[in-house]
Amino acid sequence: MLKFIKFPLFIYLLIFAPTCFSLTQTNTVAIVGAGPSGLAAAKSAKEAGLDVTVFEKNKDIGGLLNPNFGIRLNNLNSNLSKFTRSFSDFPWPKEAPLIPSPIQLHNYFRSYCDHFNLNTNILLNTLVTDISLDELSKKWTVSYVTPSSKKLKKQTFDFVIIASGSNSVAKYPNLTISDFEGEVCHAKFYEGASDYKDKIVAIVGSGFSSVEVASSLYSEAKKVYHFAKNNLWLSPKALSISNKKTPIDLVFFRNCIKNSLPKELICSDEIHTSRITHQDVLPFLHLDLNTASNPTIMVISDIYANLINSKQVTIVTDPVRSLYKNTIICDHSTYHVDAIIFCTGFLSNFPFFSQDILKKINFNPTSDTHTLHLYESMFHPNLPNLAFVGFEKNSYSGIVELQARWAILSFILPDIFLPKAETLKKALSDSKNQIVSKDSIKTFYANYVSRLKFLAKSIGVDPDFDDPKLKNCPLIPAIFRLKGSYATPEIAKETINQCLEYLNKPQLD
Ligand SMILES: Cc1cc2nc3c(=O)[nH]c(=O)nc-3n(C[C@H](O)[C@H](O)[C@H](O)COP(=O)(O)OP(=O)(O)OC[C@H]3O[C@@H](n4cnc5c(N)ncnc54)[C@H](O)[C@@H]3O)c2cc1C
Repeated sequence: MLKFIKFPLFIYLLIFAPTCFSLTQTNTVAIVGAGPSGLAAAKSAKEAGLDVTVFEKNKDIGGLLNPNFGIRLNNLNSNLSKFTRSFSDFPWPKEAPLIPSPIQLHNYFRSYCDHFNLNTNILLNTLVTDISLDELSKKWTVSYVTPSSKKLKKQTFDFVIIASGSNSVAKYPNLTISDFEGEVCHAKFYEGASDYKDKIVAIVGSGFSSVEVASSLYSEAKKVYHFAKNNLWLSPKALSISNKKTPIDLVFFRNCIKNSLPKELICSDEIHTSRITHQDVLPFLHLDLNTASNPTIMVISDIYANLINSKQVTIVTDPVRSLYKNTIICDHSTYHVDAIIFCTGFLSNFPFFSQDILKKINFNPTSDTHTLHLYESMFHPNLPNLAFVGFEKNSYSGIVELQARWAILSFILPDIFLPKAETLKKALSDSKNQIVSKDSIKTFYANYVSRLKFLAKSIGVDPDFDDPKLKNCPLIPAIFRLKGSYATPEIAKETINQCLEYLNKPQLD
């Protein structure tokens, strides 16, 4: 993409102005989903002058992060600071807590909609049932139902953004679950510990949610087994950096942090090659990157370590092979339990697409790697005028917003912001032929920093990282409004200053 961006965007806008402005005044865009991705897309579309309609099947915005409809476990995400959990041009009030609660986050989304006047563009309680392409006109027809009319309606749009969420469906392991006679639940539907009072509970899975569920269950359950076949690398929610507790996003989402961290916490992308072990951090959770057959997974909790030490939670690394009546059968032992909570991940779902489109994007709901066959997780050469937002792994705020901005720019200025179909096809076929190497460690931040930088560069909003201020600043979304299209440098500088002030305070909140 970079090769296109030799001149500042406004030069292109001047060159393309006639086409661009006639397009943007009349062109329509449909956005499926009013979660964080859909909201970011709606705002970007509006600022580009498009006529926006957001379809949201729930009666409220916020998607997974809605405290009423979302995943209860999203409380676990409250380890991220407000500087990361924000849109780039809409700072939290200065007095907001460093780690906002789920309800505060939801109110923040509401204020965002109010501030950018998005409410009139969002159709709540409206389920999209079909999205199909007219190959001739390259326009998309969206079919949808509103509960009030119960009638199927159709509307044709010039562009479509799919922001329906990458974690919409509960994923279960390959076991015959019906053989189990006890209670079965998935982290997606977990309501809290009170349902498990005095029960022997098995948690199956090794990700974020497994540790969060284990940490909430111990107070009510009679016994908790955590079946985790992967090694776990446990990080506290805040790390001591220079004797100061710092939220993990402000530690890990750095451009250049190698020299400022203890060696065992060095992250950025180098961690994948440096193979640093973390025994020093948590010696009792044995971690051997060389012998582990499954990747080590980084999980985040302040209390899980104590629960293991005090035997309130028992880790079982023996793989679960089958279920029978009230028993979990592993390779070397069996366990009698009353209930199982599967913390085995989530999948996306596209019930509104035809088999033909699903085949194009290589949608395979049972795939372990769960990658959609899309250019940069967003575009497909045979699906013109359509973009996906929020389907990249580790889609935190910065990523989804940059994707949303890219999607809109690709619609209004495709010659600049979208490679030609042939290039897209080649990139996709090259990626298909690549052998995907298994990471030895799965961290919550994965390649977040490099992806942010790539996306920002793709739309010409990457800031000057040599600026001494930015060298020390975490990659918070605000830094991507310093320059480029729709920049708001004054607001961005103010947010950056606030973030640096926090980091320089002797003790954080
Ligand atoms: C400001 C901000 C703060 C963030 N904070 C966090 C955080 O604290 N922790 C974290 O992990 N991530 C955070 N993120 C990242 C974000 O949560 C993830 O990207 C999120 O998990 C996925 O959001 P999404 O909008 O892609 O999907 P979802 O949240 O799943 O939203 C998808 C929406 O689409 C709707 N939908 C689906 N299908 C249809 C259909 N057929 N018809 C109509 N509607 C449909 C759903 O009802 C849902 O509301 C943040 C992002 C932003 C921008």
